[in-house]
Amino acid sequence: MRLAERALGISPSPTLSIDAKAKKMMAEGLDVINFGVGEPDFDTPDNIKQAAIEAINKGMTKYTPVPGTDKLREAIVKKLKKDNGLDYQPSQIVVSAGAKHSLYNVFQVLCQSGDEVILPAPYWVSYLEQVKLAGASPVIVPTRASEGFKLTPGELESAITGKTRVVVINSPSNPTGAVYSRSELKALGEILESKGIAIISDEIYEELIYDGLEHVSIASLSPGLKELTVVINGLSKSHAMTGWRIGYAAAPVPVAKAMADLQSHSTSNPNSIAQVASVEALEGTREPLRNMVNEFNRRRDFMLERVNAVPGLSCAKPGGAFYLFPDMSSYIGKLYNGKRIEGASDLAALLLEEARVALVPGVAFGDDHCFRLSYATSMEKITEGMNRIERLLSEIS
Ligand SMILES: *Cc1c(COP(=O)(O)O)cnc(C)c1O
Repeated sequence: MRLAERALGISPSPTLSIDAKAKKMMAEGLDVINFGVGEPDFDTPDNIKQAAIEAINKGMTKYTPVPGTDKLREAIVKKLKKDNGLDYQPSQIVVSAGAKHSLYNVFQVLCQSGDEVILPAPYWVSYLEQVKLAGASPVIVPTRASEGFKLTPGELESAITGKTRVVVINSPSNPTGAVYSRSELKALGEILESKGIAIISDEIYEELIYDGLEHVSIASLSPGLKELTVVINGLSKSHAMTGWRIGYAAAPVPVAKAMADLQSHSTSNPNSIAQVASVEALEGTREPLRNMVNEFNRRRDFMLERVNAVPGLSCAKPGGAFYLFPDMSSYIGKLYNGKRIEGASDLAALLLEEARVALVPGVAFGDDHCFRLSYATSMEKITEGMNRIERLLSEIS
């Protein structure tokens, strides 16, 4: 059967495939330490689970409005006001089957053939494919470790052309953990506002932020920027709810309406039970979240110290999310058992085969000098995994 060109152009998510390979090796009984994971290792908090059980028992198991229940959209409006200083109406909120789905919807309604979308690299893998699926052209703008992997106003200006339609900002970032400050966002925002370029602001790691850093939504910086921005967020990372599939977008009314209309012909409403659970996640106790953030903070500090103690690896302190993105370029061109290492992909393959440590090579994010280590795993696993990495790297010469 012939496949459409659209389908032939899709590359499967490399982060999910590494994770799948590691899980397969584990299922075969191999002792793999998985630093490839992209989800919190914590269980969904009990109050949230309980709300879902009650929703089932009360029969809240039918279709809901396509963009989400009134209750959930109102809870999201309150959250955006309280945490982000943003004023939205429930009609501006569209709830989808995860933030990834929200992003898919927004690229579909904003982008078309001939449009350019600026993606600062390292970027989250799905942006690239989703931009292409919308028929638009991704414009990848590399950022530098020395700039904290953050797009500078100069780099932004030089990437903008007459075709630039959207810029994606992801703070805190996956994979680098970079957190943009208010003044950095202001500088980028001034350029974008003056040119009327739309912004997709992926804020899914908002809650996972350390060292007293402040999460700022670029939409909150001026009324003009709010009109140009679609805020993307969700419950997956903040409430350890990856499997529940709830994400949302907050957008100007015509954009929200177009996203809901698109969704009405694809998935309809997101899962009704997960929506009830999400109201509890947004309105209930924040205690489990605080504990999770404290634990991530501890692991980040520990793993960072271990990584920077390995000769030839260097990693700046990430301000958010649950990843480290160390540079391994000093190993490029060196040999392991006579095999030459050309980039982080080769190193990742070696580590999985020879040391049984799974991690994601930076090429997945547009930078093969680095690799991504997730610390969404226990201190014991981090210790053992780092021992293995250290041992293997010491055998490279
Ligand atoms: C995990 C992730 C998402 C999507 O999360 P969902 O599970 O689909 O809600 C979106 N953006 C980034 C940067 C992520 O890491």
